[in-house]
Amino acid sequence: MKIGLFFGSFNPIHIGHLILANTIAESAKLDKVWFVVSPQNPFKKKETLLHEFDRYDMVQKAIFDNTRLAACDAEFHLPKPSYTIDTLTYLHEKYPKYEFSILMGSDNLVNLKNWKNYEKVLEYHQIHVYPRPNKNVGTSATVNAENTLLDELYKHPNVHTTNAPLLEISATYLRERIQNQQSIRYLVPEMLEEYIKRKKFYSK
Ligand code: ATP
Repeated sequence: MKIGLFFGSFNPIHIGHLILANTIAESAKLDKVWFVVSPQNPFKKKETLLHEFDRYDMVQKAIFDNTRLAACDAEFHLPKPSYTIDTLTYLHEKYPKYEFSILMGSDNLVNLKNWKNYEKVLEYHQIHVYPRPNKNVGTSATVNAENTLLDELYKHPNVHTTNAPLLEISATYLRERIQNQQSIRYLVPEMLEEYIKRKKFYSK
């Protein structure tokens, strides 16, 4: 079974995440995409970050009946902050027959070299990179260095670029709208919209 892992805080999950996961699942021929919800770091508690259980529930509500997508709580069981390599090791032990790959925005690919044991991550896992234009900001020197690094990474046999439609929306934008009593209709699935309202998540 081929599982693509999509890491994030999903605070809350939105249609940008869902469209990406669904499109890449198809194009990369993955059996499933799991949304790996990152836990709260107890030392860096952010006021706007909802409890991990609530964010996990919201992922489940958003997925609804799409059996190709699932919520994953693996990182809730690991020491915080969790490193991707440790999450992958945990998942391999728990599901030895599954093949895990990673979904990643091009803006994150440039940071890959800063990850713990990134060589291992790259050696044993396929990485599906989707473009995130206009996300690379920096001085021309850093941009040049980053571009060289990116060129190298893009040539790696385990790095695959995939095309997915991108939406210019973010969880921050959704939280702001809720705080300003604006609608998030169509930005999240209807069931999730109702759930957020009922639970009064993110409202002042
Ligand atoms: P926030 O606004 O709170 O930072 P976010 O919407 O960027 O949140 P995350 O939970 O951090 O959501 O996202 C998980 C992953 O999805 C990240 O790697 C992020 O880059 C990517 N992502 C988020 N929104 C989009 C989008 N609209 N299109 C493509 N990728 C996205």
